[in-house]
Amino acid sequence: MNDVLPDVVGVWQFLEQTALDVFGTYGFAEIRTPALEKTELFSRSIGETTDIVEKEMYTFNDKSGSSLTLRPEGTAPVMRSFIQNRLATQDAVAKLCYIGAMFRHERPQKGRYRQFHQIGAEAIGVEDPKIDAQVLLMLHHYFSRIGISAVSLEVNSLGCPVCRPGYRQQLINYLQARLEALCSECQRRYLNNPLRVLDCKAEACRAATVAAPAMIDHLCDECDEHFRQVRQYLDLLEVPYVVNPRMVRGLDYYVRTTFELVTDQLGSQNAVAAGGRYDGLIESLGGPALPGVGFAIGLERLVLMLDKRQQKAKVPALFIAALGEDAARQAFVLMSKLQAQGVWTEMDYMGKSLKAQMRRADKMGAVKTLIIGDEELRTGLAQLKNMADSTQKSVRLDSLVEELS
Ligand code: ATP
Ligand code: MG
Repeated sequence: MNDVLPDVVGVWQFLEQTALDVFGTYGFAEIRTPALEKTELFSRSIGETTDIVEKEMYTFNDKSGSSLTLRPEGTAPVMRSFIQNRLATQDAVAKLCYIGAMFRHERPQKGRYRQFHQIGAEAIGVEDPKIDAQVLLMLHHYFSRIGISAVSLEVNSLGCPVCRPGYRQQLINYLQARLEALCSECQRRYLNNPLRVLDCKAEACRAATVAAPAMIDHLCDECDEHFRQVRQYLDLLEVPYVVNPRMVRGLDYYVRTTFELVTDQLGSQNAVAAGGRYDGLIESLGGPALPGVGFAIGLERLVLMLDKRQQKAKVPALFIAALGEDAARQAFVLMSKLQAQGVWTEMDYMGKSLKAQMRRADKMGAVKTLIIGDEELRTGLAQLKNMADSTQKSVRLDSLVEELS
């Protein structure tokens, strides 16, 4: 779990603000849900046999004995809130987005932390593949706005409750015949979660599954047509993508369209965003039978990719140097007025010498300085110095607020 320090927080603010701007253009409104939810919300939606639920959640009993969990992802909480607050009644499509901390007890490494942050978006209520393409276009648009181009979009279809069970059995049969070749983790999970074997990082599992059956070759007619149209709309919108038939997701609620945005710049933590369709999820949580599609972007990984870029530090617009107690009091009032007008102003609080005050102004990078002493208090005039070129200008103290704001 990391602290985000003031010298890098600008990147975070940029990423968050740009997301709200871009997503707003597509009609997404921000929603904020609590960091804690009832444990069952996650075990029921993400799935009992997934890595997240099996071993990564921060779960505890509170003082009244309820089992609570720090949210490991954002979709289930947003759906819980959507149902509870009856947001379905407001429009035929609900477009929600969120920014927040997620918690997973994973092995920490570069790009993988125990508290991390996601920006996510969810479009609820539309089955039409246009909305899948819209959501992917929005993701694409966001990445071009933040200036990250070294990513590629991979898409796949995971079928639906009609076609997946048959495919799943075929995959189990395929894996069973090659059981000794799989890693111990996959030998354990191939019956409960056979799809997960397809994205196991172990070389042995990769080799053993090169010829494994793929979901996209076993889609029912409806899923096949849906996926075909998603790709068609992506072509129409000129969103570049590749079909990755091996892509599966680590959460059980996904059906049909699934996707990942991957990069080769972050070593093995190569996914910067991921998502898909979750038709059926809202109903399984006790809500209306509405489909949905969404994604989550991992903020830390974006920050790592943007790290090398120069950040322009924010600097005060004015530093007021005061000589003597009367001048300091006057300077204090002036500073407060300017701050209230939105002009970032600084001064000395410690009775330092003029030289020390000017040194501090310089170090802070103040754009302008103003020196106030007894003489300036008497005449009501002071010198406003431009720090970049050392030019000076005489200004009236009583019109300084207008001059600078
Ligand atoms: P991975 O395959 O990297 O474990 P995931 O499938 O568990 O990812 P999702 O649950 O789909 O990831 O989350 C979406 C995005 O959130 C990921 O693509 C990644 O950028 C980010 N993310 C997930 N887990 C972490 C983590 N522990 N630390 C930092 N970022 C993370
Ligand atoms: Mg994971």
